Amino acid sequence: MDSQHNLESGAVQQNREYAAPERRWAWVEIDREAIRHNLKRFRKLLGPDVKMLAVVKADGYGHGAVEVARVALATGATILGVSSVDEGIELRRADIAAPVLILTEPPIEAIPLILQHQLIPSIYNMEFALALGEMADAQGRVSPYHLKVDTGMNRVGVHHSDAGDFLRSISFHRGLELQGVFTHFATSDDVATYEFQRQLERFEQALAVIRYMGVNPGIIHAANTAAAIRYRQARYNMVRLGLGIYGLHPSEVTRQLIDLRPAMSVHARISFLKPVPVGEGVSYSYTYRSPGNVLIATLPIGYGDGLARMLSNQMDVLIDGRRLPQVGTICMDMMMVEINQRSSALKPRVSVQLGDEAIIVGASGDESISLDDMARTLGTINYELACRFGLRLDRVFVD
Ligand SMILES: *Cc1c(COP(=O)(O)O)cnc(C)c1O
Repeated sequence: MDSQHNLESGAVQQNREYAAPERRWAWVEIDREAIRHNLKRFRKLLGPDVKMLAVVKADGYGHGAVEVARVALATGATILGVSSVDEGIELRRADIAAPVLILTEPPIEAIPLILQHQLIPSIYNMEFALALGEMADAQGRVSPYHLKVDTGMNRVGVHHSDAGDFLRSISFHRGLELQGVFTHFATSDDVATYEFQRQLERFEQALAVIRYMGVNPGIIHAANTAAAIRYRQARYNMVRLGLGIYGLHPSEVTRQLIDLRPAMSVHARISFLKPVPVGEGVSYSYTYRSPGNVLIATLPIGYGDGLARMLSNQMDVLIDGRRLPQVGTICMDMMMVEINQRSSALKPRVSVQLGDEAIIVGASGDESISLDDMARTLGTINYELACRFGLRLDRVFVD
C-alpha cells in the first residue's frame, strides 16, 4: 500500500495540472465560478474607477496562483500581487503578462531576475533602490517600483515621516520610476476603527509631502480585503484583494457588507471500511475507543495534507448530507471517521461504501463545514488553513 502510494504521489506531482481524484482519494476542489462571483461583487462595491490587484501569494492562498491569476485577470483584476520573486516567475512561466507587484522588497541578489521577468518590486531600503536603479540603467531600462510606507504596521516600509526624504534621495535616478505608493493596515478587520484612522492619517500626510515635492505618487493603494469592503476613503486608485477573491471573510464585520462565495472545498473518498467492536482503540495512542459496535471509515487525508492534527477528535466530516465525527489521532496521511451503527426512528442507519465521498470542507445536503469553523476550533484564521490545504493535495478546478 505504502510503496504504491509513493509511486503515485510522484506521478501526481509531475502531472499536477491534470491531478484528479482517480490517483489519490483526497483532493481540493476550486470553483472558478465562485472566484468570478467574488470579483464581480467587488467591482460592484468599488464602482468602475478603483483598480483591483489580485493577491495570489502563497500559491493563491492555497488555491493555485496561476489558475486564480487567470480567472482574476479575466474578471476585472488588472495587476497581480505576490510576495517573492519566485512567485512572480511562476506567473511569467505560465505566460501571464499582466503587471506583477512583489509586495515585499526582495534581496538585492534577485535584481537580475526582477528585471529579466519584468516584475515590479516594492521598495523601502535605500541600498536596494540604488542597486535596482544602477542595474536597470546599465541594461538601458527603467524599472518601475512602488514605495511602501509604514504607517503603523511596523513590519516593513519607509517610516511615514521619512517618505519624502527617501524619495528625494532616489528620485534623481534615471533607472527608477515611481509607479505607486502604498501602505498596509494592521487593524482593518477590527471592530474598533481608531488605529485604522491613525494609519490613514499618517498615509495622507506622507502623500501630501510627496505631492508638495512635485512628485506624482502614481497608483495610490492601501486597502486589503477588509479595508476595501469597509472603508471607502481607503480605496484610493486601487485595492489589494486577497482573502475576499477566494470567498472568505476577514472577520465578522464584513459579512453583512458583501456576498462572497468560498472557492475552496476539500474532499476525500473512503479508502477502507471495517466494523470495530466495542472498546477497541483507533489510531495512534488510542485517543479514541469505540463506544459500541461501530463502522470505522478511513479517509486518505492527514496533517501532511494540511489537516491540522490538533483537530483530532474535534472535527466532523460530511457524508451524504450527514455529519459524522472524526475519531482518533489524525495521522500524516489518513484519518478515521466513526459511523455509529445504532439506528433510531429519528436517525436512520447511515449506509456507506468504500469509495463514498466525504466533505472535509464544503457543503453536503443541508450541512456545511467552513474553513471559518475549523479556524475557530483551532484558534487561528481561515487564511492559514486555506494556505495549508494547498501544500500537497491535488487540485481539481471546476467552472
Ligand atoms: C497579503 C496582502 C494583502 C491581501 O490581504 P487580504 O486580507 O488577504 O485581502 C494586501 N496587501 C499586502 C501588502 C499583503 O501582504
